[in-house]
Amino acid sequence: MTTLPWIICILLVLALIALHFLHQRRFHKTTEGLKKTFQEQLSASEAAIGRINRELTTQFQNLLEGIPDGLLVLDKDQRLEFVNTPAINLLRLPSNPIGLRLLEGVRWPELMTLIENLTPDQRANTMELPSPSSSQGWFKVFAALINPEGPFPKKYIVAIRDITETRLTEQHQREFVANISHELRTPVSHIKGWAETLLGNLGNIPRETEQRFLESILRNAIRLELIINDLLVLSALESSTIPIKRECVDLQALLHQVTDEFQKRATEKGITITCSLPRVCIWGDPLRIEQVLFNLIDNAIKYGRPNGHIQIGASVKDAIAEVFVADDGPGIPPEALERIFEKFYRVDVSRSRATGGTGLGLAIVKQIIQAHGGKVWAESIPGKGTTFRFTLPAVSNSE
Ligand code: ADP
Repeated sequence: MTTLPWIICILLVLALIALHFLHQRRFHKTTEGLKKTFQEQLSASEAAIGRINRELTTQFQNLLEGIPDGLLVLDKDQRLEFVNTPAINLLRLPSNPIGLRLLEGVRWPELMTLIENLTPDQRANTMELPSPSSSQGWFKVFAALINPEGPFPKKYIVAIRDITETRLTEQHQREFVANISHELRTPVSHIKGWAETLLGNLGNIPRETEQRFLESILRNAIRLELIINDLLVLSALESSTIPIKRECVDLQALLHQVTDEFQKRATEKGITITCSLPRVCIWGDPLRIEQVLFNLIDNAIKYGRPNGHIQIGASVKDAIAEVFVADDGPGIPPEALERIFEKFYRVDVSRSRATGGTGLGLAIVKQIIQAHGGKVWAESIPGKGTTFRFTLPAVSNSE
């Protein structure tokens, strides 16, 4: 009888132990299940983050590819980590330069100095540098040092912008201002000089001398007016403030009208003018085209040979009319053929001035022809003559 309670106790303990193990196994199973689910979710999230990361990187790189500036990201040893296509082209890098040290890929000492001079105190710098190649190019280079200290890796960012065109425009503007000042100063100083002489000698100068001085003042004032008028025309054409009309212009009729105006001057110089062009109609602004013909024939008479010959003709091909004005004068040297269309460029400055030239006639011609969608150029054999040619859209028979 005394052993029974013991047996019951032992059975109870055993039952409790069994219950404990059963519970623990169940608990273990549940936590295992939870752990597995958690791990699966974690790897799915990691994969998603990785995918989003890659997509963002690709999108960001595409964005950087789309900008015209060259962009480079370098690691602490100045090895390329990222480079966009404009930078590859600008720096003439191999097509896949990632991992390449900048020093090995680019011979541009000024760029290397700019990067090497970056310090934690001077983290960014901008410089305008001449092109590393022998061409006339100029670049604006921005370099910055990222994470110079701290937990993140140190990097360099370099942005390169081609500023060659801006520099050339600035240079042309400076030259233009210098040229205008020079062109205006000569007649102004003449007017001032003669006027001062007249005022300083009032009543003491013979009438004929006085008349000569006044004539000179008038001549120089007319010259100033010519230059200013040409400049105003050119400025209006360049800024397109005066719209170019698009009318059907009978070139033959227009040419006869212009040559009639020159007949007297041509005869005085013993020059004959021959026009042989078919009936050509072009789309354009009659007043502007008249100005083109006027300037070219004026030059042919001014620079052509005395007792020489001027020939004017035209042809039409594929709805484009090509007009030429040829003289048999001294011609233009090959190196000047392009430059004569620049403002104030003259082959022979004193001859141009002596004939009343402003140095703007051909620049005006070029602007007008370009505004009509055409081209103008000069051909010349020195000693034999010059031919100016220009194209304009022709009116086809069906129009
Ligand atoms: P300009 O007022 O000096 O004539 P243009 O712009 O009309 O200015 O011409 C520029 C230069 O081109 C002239 O100064 C001259 O040296 C040269 N030129 C133009 N036309 C001729 C030509 N038919 N023959 C020779 N040289 C020419």
